[in-house]
This record gives sequence, C-alpha cells and structure tokens, in this order.
Amino acid sequence: MFSGRLIFRIFFAVLLGIIVSACVDTEPEAELSAEAIVVGAGISGLSAAVEMGRAGVNVLVLDRNSVMGGHAVMAGGFAVVDTPIQNKLGFQDTPELAYQDWMDWTEDGDPGWTRYYAENSRRMIYDWVEEMGAEWVRVASGWENSIPRFHYTDRGALGVVLALFRTALELPNITFRWNESVESLVVSEGRVTGAVTRNLRTSHEETLSARYVVLATGGFAGNLDRVRANWSPDLPEPGRLLIGSSVHATGSGHDLAVQAGAALTKMNRHYIYNNGIVDPRDPAGTLSITGGNEDSLWVNAQGQRFTNETGRDKRILVDFLEQNPATYWAVFDESARDTFAMRGREWVNNPMDGHSVLDNPDITHKAPTLETLASMAGISGQALRASVQRFNELVESGVDEDFGRFSSQADAPPKIQQPPFYALQFFPMTRKSMGGIAIDTKGHALSEAGEVVSGLYAVGEANGSAGINGKHGMDGMFLGPSVVTGRVA
Ligand SMILES: Cc1cc2nc3c(=O)[nH]c(=O)nc-3n(C[C@H](O)[C@H](O)[C@H](O)COP(=O)(O)OP(=O)(O)OC[C@H]3O[C@@H](n4cnc5c(N)ncnc54)[C@H](O)[C@@H]3O)c2cc1C
Repeated sequence: MFSGRLIFRIFFAVLLGIIVSACVDTEPEAELSAEAIVVGAGISGLSAAVEMGRAGVNVLVLDRNSVMGGHAVMAGGFAVVDTPIQNKLGFQDTPELAYQDWMDWTEDGDPGWTRYYAENSRRMIYDWVEEMGAEWVRVASGWENSIPRFHYTDRGALGVVLALFRTALELPNITFRWNESVESLVVSEGRVTGAVTRNLRTSHEETLSARYVVLATGGFAGNLDRVRANWSPDLPEPGRLLIGSSVHATGSGHDLAVQAGAALTKMNRHYIYNNGIVDPRDPAGTLSITGGNEDSLWVNAQGQRFTNETGRDKRILVDFLEQNPATYWAVFDESARDTFAMRGREWVNNPMDGHSVLDNPDITHKAPTLETLASMAGISGQALRASVQRFNELVESGVDEDFGRFSSQADAPPKIQQPPFYALQFFPMTRKSMGGIAIDTKGHALSEAGEVVSGLYAVGEANGSAGINGKHGMDGMFLGPSVVTGRVA
C-alpha cells in the first residue's frame, strides 16, 4: 500500500516531531504554572494576554498593582492610519504618508517597526478593539502629523483598556494575580523558564514556571535616578525635574531582562514634557500635574521671554532646557483665566476646571500689578513689565517678530492688561520612555550580541515602544505600539 520512500518520510517526520518537542517542552505541561507568564497588566500586557488567550494558550498575568491598566487608565489617544473617522472628515491617509511624517519628526525612529506600524495600526488596534466593544469617537491633529491621526475612544485609553480586560475575563485560560511583584526570572540552560514572585500584601514568595515570559512592565519615567543616569547628551540636564508618570514606572522589567541576559537600547531617549506643575499633594515635591493656557506669555527666571509658547514641543523643550535655571512662569491676565485648561485623568471630563490650581497660592501667584506679581514669583519686576509690554506691542502689530508665534491679528492672543495678573511656575517633567529592552521584529528580547534570549519577550513601553519615537515623542505612539508589540509577541 505505501511505498518505501513514503514510509521513510513518515518515520522521519515523526522522529523530527519528537526531537522538536523534546527541545521545546523542557518541562511536562502539567508541571508548568502556565504556558506563558505576562508580567504587567497594562495595555501591552493585556494585548499580549488576549492574543495568546484567544489562540488557546494558558496565560498567567501578574501585576504588582492591585488594578489593571497601568498608565493607560490615565492616558488619551492612539496614532492610527486610514480610519473611518479620518475618511468621514475628508482626510485620505495612507501608510506611506504616515511613515514619511513619522520618520521626519522622530529623526531616527526604527524604520522597520515604523513601517510595520503604519501598515497595520488600523487592523491591529482600531478594528481589533472596536470588535471588542471600544468606541472610537474622534481624531485630533499634532505637529508630527500632516493630517489628524490621534484617535480617541469615548473614554480615552480607558475605553480600550476596559474592552481588553473584559475580553480577557471572558477567556477561561487567562488568569490574573494582583499585588504580585516579579522579583527575578528563572533562567535554566540559557532559557527563561519562569519567574520568582513576591506578594506585596502577604510577602509570600513563589517560583512559577512557564514556557514563555513576556515582560510588559512599562517604562522608567517614574525613576528620576534612572532617567538622570541615562540623560540625553543632546539636551542640557535640568536642575529640577518632576515625575509625570506613575511611580510604578521604575524600570523593574529592565533589570529582570538584564538579569536574564538581554540588552537595553536607546536608554537616553525620553519624552520630557515642558509643562510640569508641582503637585501640591506630594510632600516630596517631585510629582507633577499638568495644564496650560494658550494665551499666556512665558518668562524665564530673569523675567524674559525665551520661546514660541505655542510652537513645536520638541523646539520648546530645547529652548526651555537652555534656560538657567530650567523653569518658567506662564503669565496671563483675568481675561485668560477661563482658557486655562488642566490635562490628565482627574480633569479628563472637565479640563477647564483648573480653578483649584489657579486659586491655590502655593502654585499660582495672583496680584493686582505686574510688579507685585514679579516680586511674589521672585523675578525682576522691571524685566517682567518690559516683557509684557513688548508682548502687547507684538499682539497689537499682529506679527510676533521675536518668536514667530503669530503672523496676523486673527491668530494673535489677547493683550495681557486686565488685572488681576497670574503667574504659574513650570518645570520639565518626565512622561514616557523611548528606549528600553532590545527586541527583534517578533518581540523576542535580544542580547548585546543580537541573539534571542530564549523564552523571553518584551512588549510596550518596556521595549521603548519599539523605538518608533526615535529622538522625539509623538502623540499616541506609546499606547499604539503597546498594543501592536503586545500582539506581535
Ligand atoms: C498621564 C499620562 C498620559 C499618557 N497619555 C498617552 C496618550 O495619550 N497616548 C499615548 O500613546 N501614550 C500616552 N501615555 C503613555 C502610555 O500610557 C504608556 O506608554 C502605556 O500605557 C504603557 O503601557 P505598558 O503596558 O507598556 O506599561 P504600563 O502601563 O506602565 O504597565 C506596566 C504594568 O506592569 C506592572 N509592573 C511593573 N513592574 C512589575 C513587576 N516587577 N512585577 C509585576 N508587575 C510589574 C505595573 O504595575 C504596571 O501595571 C501617557 C502616559 C501618562 C503617564
């Protein structure tokens, strides 16, 4: 019935199968804690878990926090290419256009991941989470995009987190454990085979085994020592730097990866924001809240204007960090009080409700004259008056000859002239990490020699959002790559 050659082929295929499974299944299935352990239940960990869970993989998700979502619960939107919302507004987007825009802005974004993202963001993010119940409602523009690409659901990124989490809960092969901190990885014969965890409430320690470990531990923007130790050589380092991300973003996953033999890459790439306000609730004075007023004039500690306040953020950051010290006061008058908007989770539904900040004398100075205002802020009254006078002259002329902020009367902000006057002090703040654990195109962690660290993957901000942001961060290009790299891995 069978030819000798066919019998030989069947025998060979069976033998190969035995050899392959012997290599991969280093431990019998029953003895594994899970096939895959995902460390971190932020948006990248949830994406990886759902993708694996739907493929039938038995997944255990560990998070040292007691709730899901990581930073995404306080975040906004996603960069996506060629969507129904864009089309409805008359914008015809293409992956090629997006790729060019992003490579131009970032200067050295990872070309492979940028192209992959441009070609797949619609399918891998927008359509995927919409099918799980997330509702996309609007798209916004940004400096890096020649057409609007910054997409929001009706609840910001929380809408996506909830859709993912709900889907994960419906899959019986995905288990979550909260308050579980992964303290080290188990490495056996060059392969990552598990993780050692410690429960932060009970201090119970446990060694878990798995075939794959996915690090979805986020960035390190909450770790000022680490940010400073990896400061970008292209930028002056500020004396005071605030934290604009969660304190959980310590880079613990980076340490785990290094311990298992992985390399870190582009660690000196950070998305530093220029609008950190000291959070009065933090006794240490390192945490920040953020907001701003498009009508304000910014002056440095010498009372002088130094930048185009509404210009490109990457340009503003350089101008800002070049000030000595790196701080500025946003100065505006009573007529602009109502255009002051707060950003972030607490104000997401009511950004204009910044009155708690404007009426707090610990944060905002308020005075009937510019001289009093300057003395409250500790800057020269003469210099402040001269800067405001010059600003008002430029507004009246309709052309900002000094910094190019406006070129017509229609674009010019109102003059600063109606007391009381306000001065709100800003510092640079960390927000997102753009470098991290080195990965290949499949999300495997890589060693210094560029070799795959067997059994280990890194997704989301832990891998520096796949290097797509290059030297300059982009709107929606942290959440988006978290979903995409999570699914790819
Ligand atoms: C205020 C704010 C607004 C933002 N807005 C936007 C936006 O509009 N668009 C955008 O694209 N990006 C935005 N970002 C960035 C974006 O939210 C993050 O890049 C993204 O959510 C990262 O997801 P992640 O899953 O990779 O990591 P994270 O969200 O940081 O999640 C990591 C998880 O891992 C857990 N963890 C860490 N270490 C361990 C350990 N050792 N053991 C167990 N668990 C561990 C943490 O508790 C956490 O839950 C914003 C960030 C902030 C702070």
